[in-house]
Amino acid sequence: MSEAAKKLDTPQDVVTEFAKYSHFVRVLLDAYAVIDASGKVVKANQLFAQLTGVKMRQLLKTESFNELIEFSVNDDRISVENLLEFESPIRIDEVRGQTPNSEETKNLIVGFYPFFNEDRTQKLGAFIIMRDVTAETNLQDQYKDKAIQSITDPLTGLFTRAYFEEYLTSQVSRIEKKPEEERYPVSIVMCDIDFFKKVNDQYGHQAGDYVLKVVADLMKKTFRKTDVCCRYGGEEFLVILPAANPENAGQAADKLRHAVENAKIVFEDTHIPVTLSCGISTIAIGSETYDVSMGRADAALYDSKKNGRNLVSVHDGEKIHARPRLP
Ligand code: GH3
Ligand code: MG
Ligand code: MG
Repeated sequence: MSEAAKKLDTPQDVVTEFAKYSHFVRVLLDAYAVIDASGKVVKANQLFAQLTGVKMRQLLKTESFNELIEFSVNDDRISVENLLEFESPIRIDEVRGQTPNSEETKNLIVGFYPFFNEDRTQKLGAFIIMRDVTAETNLQDQYKDKAIQSITDPLTGLFTRAYFEEYLTSQVSRIEKKPEEERYPVSIVMCDIDFFKKVNDQYGHQAGDYVLKVVADLMKKTFRKTDVCCRYGGEEFLVILPAANPENAGQAADKLRHAVENAKIVFEDTHIPVTLSCGISTIAIGSETYDVSMGRADAALYDSKKNGRNLVSVHDGEKIHARPRLP
């Protein structure tokens, strides 16, 4: 048999092979196409015509599957020839599909099922099944964006007060359920920029906003990834430090205080000196709600303000003491 004749036979072979499944694909809810070994579409359903935007008649005349829809995964193009290299059935999630008739790409789940001749010496073609999940993924993305937005302060990128409360409540109740020996302390650092009203008055509100951003960035750098930094209100910040006792939290807070004091904050060519005061408490898990502990952190912060600002004070449950400043 000549090469050309052999090629002509192949489409029929794959159609014959595929006929075994025809009763099954009649109830299929996804788009499918059957391709021969050269990558030409020899059979497809209406859903595939819809997906590609090419009429059935036209579609069956097209030379290659590649001209109907282009697949890519993580920006790497996957041609029908690449697919035909697979020896066994595969499923690929998160495929982007681009059709020549549409500007928009589609999100697809693609299944690929190769057909062989009886002794598996020759690949006859393949069955390609495609589920369009664009609507679902868009919805998920929207939901994700909304969820992230709702817990992020737009100016500083820190968590919001609402998230702070939600996180602390769940964190505390989780620890409460643990046996005594597995519990760990959770500390709260409350921070407030000193004389921030003056910053606004002297340098303008925009400069004030810039200072807030810089302080927030210093917080992100100073605290651990596992610590939760939040903007509690105007120029007030809160940090939750899991597994930190008052001494650990005090050290971290003074590192931040020191960083803020020494930061060269320049807005529109003007240097703005900024300092920060902090108050610290540790939650007595099991015997108090977190807001009682926050009251102590607030009292400690008030002491820092009273004792000259640019200071960290720790409430140990009984009394408040100011930490010596890092040199
Ligand atoms: P203290 O050292 O006692 O904390 O003095 P303070 O001036 O920082 O305290 P006060 O609470 O009197 O002032 C806080 C100021 O923060 C008042 C308000 O205008 C300003 N502020 C609150 N939110 C924002 C904001 O988002 N951007 C800017 N630029 N200013 C803000
Ligand atoms: Mg304040
Ligand atoms: Mg203030």
